[in-house]
Amino acid sequence: MNLILLFKDDFIDGGTRVRLSGRRHKHLRDICRASVGDEFCVGLCDGKIGTGRVTALEEDALEMDVALTTAAPATTPVTLVLALPRPIMLKRILLTVSSMGVKRIFLFHSHRVEKSFWKSPALKKANLKEQLILGLEQARDTVLPKVELRPLFKPFVEDELPGVAQKTLSLVAHPRSSGPCPRYVKRPVTLVVGPEGGFIPYEIEKLTGLGFAPVHLGERILRVEAAVSALLSRLF
Ligand code: SAM
Repeated sequence: MNLILLFKDDFIDGGTRVRLSGRRHKHLRDICRASVGDEFCVGLCDGKIGTGRVTALEEDALEMDVALTTAAPATTPVTLVLALPRPIMLKRILLTVSSMGVKRIFLFHSHRVEKSFWKSPALKKANLKEQLILGLEQARDTVLPKVELRPLFKPFVEDELPGVAQKTLSLVAHPRSSGPCPRYVKRPVTLVVGPEGGFIPYEIEKLTGLGFAPVHLGERILRVEAAVSALLSRLF
């Protein structure tokens, strides 16, 4: 945790003192071995970053005086459109992309996504948020990404995706496609990434029909989580 993410509810006065219990208290006490007077990097969710100085340390909570001065880092100009991965992988991907500055994520259904994945507790709002927060704390960011669930392929791709992709460079990551993934792109991107079993030809035809260019990362086929990191690193 390189930043302690704060929420409005943490403030116990008008705006400079916070009281933290639970995970953040435990982390500061047990991992950082915080003492009264120590300073830590803090940031207000969707707000500024600054310093928190420990003023009180108790068995189940601690208090800090905070000064928030600096803007959050620049966001990565990409909308990630990801075929829903299995829950364990979803958690890791959300944490990773949150730490890489992605702010808008669609999770959508495709033919090779197991229907049972849509019933996973990992998709509950609080569980999605938990991974996104861990990613922000890792990367010293404060701006919470938005995750939208689209459990039907056709209506999402036909009715909504064209609007999402408007005025962006639209790419679909697909092994063995003819074009390499571009590097150091200077404009917003809509990036579609497939399920663990890959897209079926119908889905690729649909996406290319909407103007999504199929791009590859070389001859090695990567796991979804590795592919997402490699694609984002290469694009930006
Ligand atoms: N057997 C599947 C196939 O050939 O399409 C493999 C799918 S791969 C495990 C899952 C997703 O990660 C793909 O649909 C694609 O979006 C992305 N991916 C993995 N390796 C890639 C590569 N070398 N180039 C482009 N995309 C890749």
